[in-house]
Amino acid sequence: MASIKLSREALVHNLDIIAHQVGGKDKIAVVLKDNAYGHGAEMIAEAASQYGVTQAVVRLEREAEQIADFFENILILGQVATFVNPKFSYAVNSLEEISSYPCGARVELKIDTGMHRHGIHPSQLEDAFALMAQLGLVCIGIMSHYRSADTLSSEWFWQRRNFDEVKTRALKLGQQYGWSLRFHIANSAGTFRTAQCNDDMVRVGIALYGCLEMDDTLPQPALKSVLSLWGNKIATRLLKAGERIGYNGIYEAQEDEVVSTYDLGYANGLDRLASNRYATPSGAILRGRISMDCASFSTDSETLMIFNNANEYARAVGTIGYEILACLDKNLKREWSI
Ligand SMILES: *Cc1c(COP(=O)(O)O)cnc(C)c1O
Repeated sequence: MASIKLSREALVHNLDIIAHQVGGKDKIAVVLKDNAYGHGAEMIAEAASQYGVTQAVVRLEREAEQIADFFENILILGQVATFVNPKFSYAVNSLEEISSYPCGARVELKIDTGMHRHGIHPSQLEDAFALMAQLGLVCIGIMSHYRSADTLSSEWFWQRRNFDEVKTRALKLGQQYGWSLRFHIANSAGTFRTAQCNDDMVRVGIALYGCLEMDDTLPQPALKSVLSLWGNKIATRLLKAGERIGYNGIYEAQEDEVVSTYDLGYANGLDRLASNRYATPSGAILRGRISMDCASFSTDSETLMIFNNANEYARAVGTIGYEILACLDKNLKREWSI
């Protein structure tokens, strides 16, 4: 059966690099949304917690409940609280949203420092604090998000400045309302963008999984990819010169060629756009169209590692490693390799 293998050694290696970068494990929040970027939320949660990470970030309450035992606090990015849990905090994405929260909910105010997707405008800070207090919410943090920390431009600098201005005002408001606040803005790229981490926490996703890509001129941490995707052989055959394989016969053997079909297809997350244009790290070439549940390669090996770094598969498709990872089939077997 096709499977996903995870390297604990790579994960710990990446956590060491991140902890060193930010000045301690206690500043790390691991981002485990969307099944921990396809890796398997519970497995990564358990390993990160064992390493000493106490903070996590997910999208939904359901995801937070699944990993609640492993962390001291879990930040939920994409859902208004439906109940109050002393371990959960919720990102508030607009001023209007505040009134939907139940009394006692712990929230973190998302500030729009320039990305303009969601978050309150810096000018709404005072109103937001007043409203949260009036409704009996507990604000535990102020957060934002960089839109291009991975690219060399002035973008990072002005967003950073906007956040620092908000920070100064929010600290005063926090004292006024009796809330002790934590501040965080950096994703993985933001974490490695500067030598010094002046915030209380960083939210690392892609760096944890070892697939961070930054502009060539920016820092390049030596991270290791955690996930590899493996297929098992269904059948082998000899294609005679001139024979074609798979749907619509888009690949024609130029000479006699051994090909095998493996038990992974686009339903498992093998993006179909890679059809006929991808080679595995061992040099097996994808032949013909990727089917729903299988794909053919120029090899007869019993098991085949499709990729051990999602960024490489992503390049064949014209997307980013994040998308390849996040779209991996939830039902694939996941296991630690080393
Ligand atoms: C997904 C996400 C992150 C993690 O981003 P990476 O680039 O994977 O490190 C951090 N913060 C928020 C708000 C996110 O949605």
